[in-house]
Amino acid sequence: MRRRTLSWPLTEEERLLQATAREFAQRELAPGAGQRDEDEAFDRPLFARMGQLGLTAAPFPQAVGGAGFSYLGWSLVMEEIARADMASAVCLSVHILSQYPVVTWGSAEQRERWLGPMQTGELLGAFALTEPHAGSDAAAIRTRAVRVDAAGEALPHDAPLAQVKGYRLNGTKIWISNAPEADRYLVFATLDPARGAKAICAFLVEKGTTGFRFGSKERKMGIRACPAAELIFEEAVVPVASRLGAEGQGYKIALSALAEGRISIAAACVGLAQSALEQAAAYLQQRRAFGKPLADQQGLRFTLAEMAHAAMRVATEAVQLFGGSGYSRDTGIERLMRDAKGAQIYEGTNQIHRLIVADEVLRRHAPG
Ligand SMILES: Cc1cc2nc3c(=O)[nH]c(=O)nc-3n(C[C@H](O)[C@H](O)[C@H](O)COP(=O)(O)OP(=O)(O)OC[C@H]3O[C@@H](n4cnc5c(N)ncnc54)[C@H](O)[C@@H]3O)c2cc1C
Repeated sequence: MRRRTLSWPLTEEERLLQATAREFAQRELAPGAGQRDEDEAFDRPLFARMGQLGLTAAPFPQAVGGAGFSYLGWSLVMEEIARADMASAVCLSVHILSQYPVVTWGSAEQRERWLGPMQTGELLGAFALTEPHAGSDAAAIRTRAVRVDAAGEALPHDAPLAQVKGYRLNGTKIWISNAPEADRYLVFATLDPARGAKAICAFLVEKGTTGFRFGSKERKMGIRACPAAELIFEEAVVPVASRLGAEGQGYKIALSALAEGRISIAAACVGLAQSALEQAAAYLQQRRAFGKPLADQQGLRFTLAEMAHAAMRVATEAVQLFGGSGYSRDTGIERLMRDAKGAQIYEGTNQIHRLIVADEVLRRHAPG
C-alpha cells in the first residue's frame, strides 16, 4: 500500500514567518537552552527579543494591535521555537494565553490599558486558574471574590451592581507558569464556591497590587527555564474596571482561552518531536557498531521483546495519574520516570536487550 502524506501548502507570508522563526530560534534560543534548564533560569532579554520580532502579538487581529497571523502561521512559529527550546515555547504560549480573553472579552478601555505593552513583549503575562484543590475540575476553585463598595467594605450579595466598585480577593493559586516573573495576571475567582462554574469571574491583576504576593516556586521536572509559582491573595482589592466580562462569565472565559492555548501547545509538541527525531536520526547515521552504522541494523526481531518497555510506560502513566503533582520534583514520581529512561540505556540498551531476547527465543525454538 502506498503511504499518503498530508500536504498543506504555505502562503508566501507563512513561509517567511516560518523561516524568520526558525532562524531566530536556532541562532538565539537553541544554544543556551540546556544551560538555562540546568540553571532553572528564565531569560527576560530573550523574551524581549521575541517581542521585538512581533512574536508576542503574533496570533491577534491587527485591529487590536496584533500581527494577525493565521492559526497555521502561529503554529509554525510555536513549532520552530519548541524545536529549539520547549521552555521558551511554553513561556510564550502562556503569555499569549493570558491575552486571548482580553482580546475576546475585554472592553475597549481594557484592551487599550492591558494589551499594548504585553503585545510588544515589554510586559509578561500569566494565566492563573489552578488551585491546590482544583486542577482538571476548574469549576471547583475556592479563591474568593467579594464585592466591595467605594470604601473597600464588603457589600451584601444582593447589593445593586451600581454599588459594586471593586472585589476583594482571597485564596491561593498554584502552578502558575511565568510567575513570579510575570507582570500581569489573569486571575479566576468565585463569588460563591457553592454555585460552581456559574459564580466564577475573571480579573486583570497587576504585580505589586497590595495583598497579592508569590508563594513557593514549583520544583519542576522539565521546562525548567519557564518559571512557575504559587500566587497568594490576602485581601487584595481590584477595581471593578479590572473585571473581565460580566460576573459569572469567568469559567466560559477560561475555557475559551484554554481552547486557543491548546493549539499552541500541540504545535510546540510537534516541534519538540521533530527535534528528537532529527537528533536521533543524525546519531544513528553517525554512530557505528558491529562494523556498520546503527541506522543499518535490522530491526524486525525487536518485537519479540516488546515487554521490556513496561517500566518506562508504567512510570510515565504514574506521572500522568498524579497530574501537576507528578510533574513536580517534590513527589519523587517523576524520578521513577527519569530512572526508567536510564534503565533503557545502561546495562545494555533496550535495542540490545531485544536482540538478546530475540536470539534466545529463536535458539529455543530452532527446528530439530
Ligand atoms: C508544567 C505545568 C505548567 C502549568 N501551568 C499552569 C498555568 O500557567 N496556569 C494554571 O492555571 N495552571 C497551570 N498548570 C496546572 C495544570 O493546569 C494542572 O496541573 C492540570 O489541569 C491538572 O490538574 P491537577 O494537577 O490538579 O491534577 P488532577 O486534576 O487532580 O488530576 C489527577 C489525575 O486525574 C485525572 N483526572 C482528573 N479528572 C478526570 C476525569 N474526569 N476523567 C479522567 N481522568 C481524570 C487527570 O488526568 C490526572 O491524571 C500547570 C501544570 C504544569 C504541570
